[in-house]
Amino acid sequence: MANKRDASCIFCKIIDGEIPSYTIYEDENIKAFLDISQATPGHTLIVPKTHVKDIFEYDPELASKTFAKIPLIAQAIKASNPNIIGMNIVNNNGSIAYQSVFHSHFHLIPRYSENDDFKMIFGDNTDSYSKEQLVAIQTKIKSELES
Ligand code: AMP
Ligand code: ZN
Repeated sequence: MANKRDASCIFCKIIDGEIPSYTIYEDENIKAFLDISQATPGHTLIVPKTHVKDIFEYDPELASKTFAKIPLIAQAIKASNPNIIGMNIVNNNGSIAYQSVFHSHFHLIPRYSENDDFKMIFGDNTDSYSKEQLVAIQTKIKSELES
């Protein structure tokens, strides 16, 4: 797939150098640059150079080119600072899921301590589901993958 751009997209403009960024890595398929909000120091975004809105628009080729580079960049960020003891990798899809820039991207958020400026809350509804309900959900998703 040739790299396509959306003229009104801020990340496409960053990819094309029309808007400056603190780029840390770039190849023919992806660009990685510092997130301007720096939730924690080193907070980085990885974007495919092809404009896709969200995870639902990737084909397997674009996914493999993009996702394959995540560990490389995560490892470089971690190696850059001995105080980094963990990392959250976050990909928001849709405004309901906190996406605000509609060019798909992955946040790499280095973690320094429980009190750094990143939080994530998972609900725990383990007790709310019967075996039958879980099987019904499983069956529906599986059938999508098999169709
Ligand atoms: P999300 O809310 O997952 O869509 O994340 C979008 C991210 O893009 C936010 O964390 C913003 O801080 C970041 N962002 C927006 N504009 C820029 C920019 N010009 N350079 C770097 N990061 C940006
Ligand atoms: Zn774009």
